[in-house]
Amino acid sequence: MAGNRYQTVLLFGAPGSGKGTQGKIIGRIPGFFHLSCGDVFRSLDINSTEGKVIYEYSSTGRLVPDDVTIRVWKRHLDALTVLSHYKPYEDILILDGIPRNQHQAELVKEHIDVLQIVHLVCRDEDAMVHRIRRRAIRENRADDASEDVIRRRFHVYEEETRPVLECYPKELISEVDAIGPPSDVLLKVLNNIVPMQNTHFQTKLKQSAEGA
Ligand code: ADP
Repeated sequence: MAGNRYQTVLLFGAPGSGKGTQGKIIGRIPGFFHLSCGDVFRSLDINSTEGKVIYEYSSTGRLVPDDVTIRVWKRHLDALTVLSHYKPYEDILILDGIPRNQHQAELVKEHIDVLQIVHLVCRDEDAMVHRIRRRAIRENRADDASEDVIRRRFHVYEEETRPVLECYPKELISEVDAIGPPSDVLLKVLNNIVPMQNTHFQTKLKQSAEGA
């Protein structure tokens, strides 16, 4: 049984596949709450001890160590819950950027109940690099600044992140073609996740009847 774990949809895909773009839009729809691990990291004070570690890794295209990642992410999620920005009884959590390796998938298990994984598939690496370059100008991101760093992130994705899919039952994974205008991709993502709202509602109803 899901217990008190947060009911979650994972947005999954390579850098530049559009997880953040889709997540932000979906997060505006009542009943969904979007949280991007990269955004959590970028919101930290860069001069704090954790901020320095995170900058050191992310600006060179490497994964931030798992202990720091999980601690910072969980603390942020707890704060959002305490402040009722995220309301676990009403909202499905839309996570993007975590878990990013198999160890993280293991570590987040106690916190989240994964209802579905939406895998944004983009086989055209040049298209993704193009998106990342546009984002670099718009958002002034250190990790988008150089071609070397971008290529390293793709490498890390193939080596460490893609295998995360093996940690979940196949029937939870939906592939969505990430090429095309954001509105087209959005329609396809919504077709997959809207039915989850009903699942979420039924589970919460059952839990409150059981007094969980
Ligand atoms: P993208 O949209 O390109 O996938 P993100 O904004 O999700 O990028 O993440 C930016 C960087 O932050 C990553 O390249 C990585 O260095 C770091 N990062 C984000 N999430 C995680 C995570 N779960 N574990 C380790 N590092 C992470």
